[in-house]
Amino acid sequence: MTVFLNGNYMPIEDAKVPVLDRGFIFGDGIYELVPVYSRAPFRLEGHLSRMERSLSEVKIANPYSRAEWTKIIEQLIEKQPFDDQGVYWQITRGVARRDHAFPKNVQPTVFMMSNPLVNPAKEIVENGGKAVTSQDFRWHRCDLKTISLIGNCMLRQLSAEENAVETLLFREGKLTEASASNAYIVKNGVIATPPKDHFILPGITLDVVFDIVKRGSIPIEVREITEAEVFGADEVWVTSSSKEIVAIVDVDGKRIGTGKPGPVFRKAWQLYQDFKNEVMRAKRTAKAA
Ligand code: PMP
Repeated sequence: MTVFLNGNYMPIEDAKVPVLDRGFIFGDGIYELVPVYSRAPFRLEGHLSRMERSLSEVKIANPYSRAEWTKIIEQLIEKQPFDDQGVYWQITRGVARRDHAFPKNVQPTVFMMSNPLVNPAKEIVENGGKAVTSQDFRWHRCDLKTISLIGNCMLRQLSAEENAVETLLFREGKLTEASASNAYIVKNGVIATPPKDHFILPGITLDVVFDIVKRGSIPIEVREITEAEVFGADEVWVTSSSKEIVAIVDVDGKRIGTGKPGPVFRKAWQLYQDFKNEVMRAKRTAKAA
C-alpha cells in the first residue's frame, strides 16, 4: 500500500515517524477521513473546512494550501488499486523534546493513507444493529477531530464487547453522539438530532442527512434529546462517513420501536443510496465522459 508522509509517497513499510513525534507522545494532532466513491472524494471541501477549523483551534500551522491538499489526496487515490476508498490523514504538531507547552519552529508531521471503503453489511442494513449506552466522559472539545481518541476507544470497546455496532453517549442525561458516529431518534415521523455544540463532532454525514431528508420532505429538528426519549423512540440511527446510516434496533438489550429498521430509516437509507449514485459518483461519470 502506498502512503504519503511529509511530502513523499512510499510503501507503508517505509513510512516511519520518530518516537518524539508529539502525536506519539501526547496524541497532539488532528485527523480527517473522507469517503471516496468511484475515485472521487465526496464533500472534500467540507472535510477540508473541518480540518482547517481543527488545526486553527489547536494552533497547529496548516502546512498546505487547499489546492495542495486536494492534489495530495487525488494523487494518493490514484495510487490505490480500488475505486471506493476511505482516505485518512493526520497532522501532528511535529517532533520535539517532550514538554507539554507547544514547541517553537517545528514542522508538523503529515501522514495520509487510503483503505478500501467498507460500507455496512447487508445484514446490518436489513436488520439493524445493537447499541449500548454510556456516560459521555470525554472532554469538552468533542467538536475537534483530534487524534487523542482514547475516550472514544474506551467507549467503543463497551459496545464491541457486546457485539454491538455503537455506544450511545449521554451527558447529564442528554444524548450527545455515539463513540464514532452522530446519533438521531425518530418519533412520530419526525427526525431529531442534538445541536452541533462542543460536545459532538460536526459530522459531514450529518450534513448529508439534512440534505437528503429535505429532498425526501422528511421533517428533521435539532434539539436536546433525553435518555428516556431514546428508549421511547420509534427509531434510532447512527451515521458516519463509513457507516452511512445504520438503524439501531436494540439499546442495552431493550427493543427500539418494532425491533426492525423503521419506515423513516428505510426511506432515508434509499435517499442516501440514490444520492450516492447520482451525486457522489457523478464526478467519475463526468470525468469519463
Ligand atoms: N462523531 C464522532 C465521534 C466520530 O468519530 C465520527 C466519525 N469520524 C462522526 C461523529 C461522524 O463524522 P463523519 O460523518 O464526518 O464521518
